[in-house]
Amino acid sequence: MAIAAANKRTLSENESKIILSGYDVPTVREVVAADPEAAVKAAAEIGFPVVLKGHGGALAHKSELGLVYVGLEDESAVGNAAQKILSGAPEGLEGFLVQEFIKGRREFLAGIFRDPIYGPMVVFGLGGVLTEALSEISMRVAPLERADAEEMLVELRGASALMGEFRGEAPVDREAVIGTLLGLSKLAMERPDVAEVDLNPLIATPDGGIVAVDALVVIAPPEEPIPPRPQTSPEEIGKIFYPKSVAFIGATTGMGKWGQSLPTNLIAGGYEGEIYLVNPKGGEMWGRHVYKSISEIEGEIGLAVVSIPAKGVLELIPEFKEKGVKQVLLITSGFGETGEEGRDLEKRLVEAARDAEVVLFGPNTMGILNPWINLYITGVHTRPHAGGTALISQSGNMGVQLLDYASRQGIGIRAFGGSGNEAMVTIEDFMEAFEVDDETTTVLLYLESVKEGRRFLKSAKRVGMKKPVVVLKGGRTAAGSRAASSHTGAMASDYRVFQAVAKQSGIVSVSQPVEMLDASAAFSSLPLPKGRRVAIMTLGGGWGVVTSDLCAEHNLEVPELSQTLVSKLDGVLPPYWSRTNPVDLVGENDPDLPFIGVEALAAWDGCDAVINLGIVGRRYLLKWLLTSLEKVDPGLESSSAEQIQGMVDLLEQRYIDHCAKLMERYDKPIIGVELASGGAQRTLYEIAGAKYKGVFFSTPERAVRALSHMCSYQDFINR
Ligand code: ADP
Ligand code: MG
Repeated sequence: MAIAAANKRTLSENESKIILSGYDVPTVREVVAADPEAAVKAAAEIGFPVVLKGHGGALAHKSELGLVYVGLEDESAVGNAAQKILSGAPEGLEGFLVQEFIKGRREFLAGIFRDPIYGPMVVFGLGGVLTEALSEISMRVAPLERADAEEMLVELRGASALMGEFRGEAPVDREAVIGTLLGLSKLAMERPDVAEVDLNPLIATPDGGIVAVDALVVIAPPEEPIPPRPQTSPEEIGKIFYPKSVAFIGATTGMGKWGQSLPTNLIAGGYEGEIYLVNPKGGEMWGRHVYKSISEIEGEIGLAVVSIPAKGVLELIPEFKEKGVKQVLLITSGFGETGEEGRDLEKRLVEAARDAEVVLFGPNTMGILNPWINLYITGVHTRPHAGGTALISQSGNMGVQLLDYASRQGIGIRAFGGSGNEAMVTIEDFMEAFEVDDETTTVLLYLESVKEGRRFLKSAKRVGMKKPVVVLKGGRTAAGSRAASSHTGAMASDYRVFQAVAKQSGIVSVSQPVEMLDASAAFSSLPLPKGRRVAIMTLGGGWGVVTSDLCAEHNLEVPELSQTLVSKLDGVLPPYWSRTNPVDLVGENDPDLPFIGVEALAAWDGCDAVINLGIVGRRYLLKWLLTSLEKVDPGLESSSAEQIQGMVDLLEQRYIDHCAKLMERYDKPIIGVELASGGAQRTLYEIAGAKYKGVFFSTPERAVRALSHMCSYQDFINR
């Protein structure tokens, strides 16, 4: 939210520094001088060389206005510079600022700004001319913990390279930088009237100290705090996923209408509770009685699903109250997402619902699922099987895509909810409900914007300590943000801010839908790696090379094999084996070798995870070969082809079982990459009675990325 310019006041450089020095920010020694004579006198007191600047509250970007003279060696240089500044007579010039000249080649920046959704943020990055050229900044939501500040220093390639020894200058005093960032954080929290702070540059001296030579503080009346929204409790949210009965208000036989596809999905999906169809016309539908109104229904209504046009929805609330309906899933669109009028209607609806003690989900949602009780209330009839992955999506079609893909990959779903416009129940409410749900192992969120940034950050962090929260953030780019705001009626906050929130709260942040489900498959099926060392086993060299490169790019190590392990493998592998990590079993037909190899690596204490390439999936290649042979070799007996195929299928199944057992024994993830599958590939292999599952991706990049997300999550837990 832009603060109206009229209410903003920029403090002068010197006033700014006075505030900052009260918060542990090291600032340059300086004197304010009213005229050139006083400037010359002050320079002599400070000692040469000095820096002379034009001074005044309205003067930002001083060097562009020709108001900064650095490295002035004597009194006459100072006098001349002062005259030049005066002759330019810029508007807002109130006097001069004489400063000690700070030596140092490295310039950083630090500061504060206020994000409309997440509030005060602290920034650190490359300063001086590099600021705009490289735009390398890292940020965190205030208040910062020490660990947040530490992370900010290592996050940026450029800045962290400059933190070390540089062209004969000592490494930067990290404590001083951390102290400055924590000081800024404190300032941000204690002074709500400080809208912005800009320290640029913060110069690192040759002995490694840091000094702010320029400072800019912008004061603005604090924004009215947004009153916290009433929260919907986890118990209330739990109820929507376990309704005793469901009534469809607006049931219809109209082909493809919501009122048709929702009830038919629920009926066909095998839900065991009572289902009521409501339509003023009455009669029958699909051989079932149709009630003319809610009041005609004799039994209790656990959940009312509403798909009638927006203008008629408000009138339903008194009927719900009368009938004692407490939970309403409002599918209908045409509310806040359409503009002023719709927003107004949505507001009135929420007020009425609260009065009637009705919990309202949506509007403009695509529905909910709970496969554990065959509760399928979505327009698209995809019916994933029950599992541990909970998914909440702010976009209906993204949700459907993800669900469909998840079910094809064998990923089980705990529950799905489209949060729609979040008029009453927000994505934060859902997240907190899954926090306390024992069945949920991983929480996936498709997010465009949140309503209460600081609550979101806090809950994500708390939930994250118990189970991974994986977020796909829509609106990463300007184009994406535009699309997001036009379809959910929400303003998408800057993606950079979100990235900071993700790091601070341990959110596993992904940028593609497939990546999200891969992370979810890994989290819900494998033990977490304890460190970043990866052992790779491959059938063929190139794959191993590519995977090693990918590991390095994702900050994973591929350590050399220990001598003990090499000797151990020498005893079992053919004499020409690679003797390095990746372990290459190429050209070897002995079916036992992969079993022995993967076990030796899993047992090796020099690695934290094992990636195996191409062991599983050979059954597909064989199938293709046999198909060709059938055409080429009239003598081939189909029974013998089937027998060979059956043997290889069984072998692969045994290998997957073996991996699952090893994971349990050594408490270490084993991730596979399958050979070419011709599109038949699936990610998860469930093994009866086993704690973990077989996880096999179609490509090394998917495997490495999923593993690196697990490592980052483990880092967060350790932190
Ligand atoms: P601007 O308003 O243009 O940002 P600054 O006060 O940051 O003006 O000065 C411009 C540049 O001059 C800084 O980026 C820095 O490189 C240099 N500079 C300013 N003050 C000092 C100082 N006290 N010691 C050394 N260099 C300085
Ligand atoms: Mg500056």
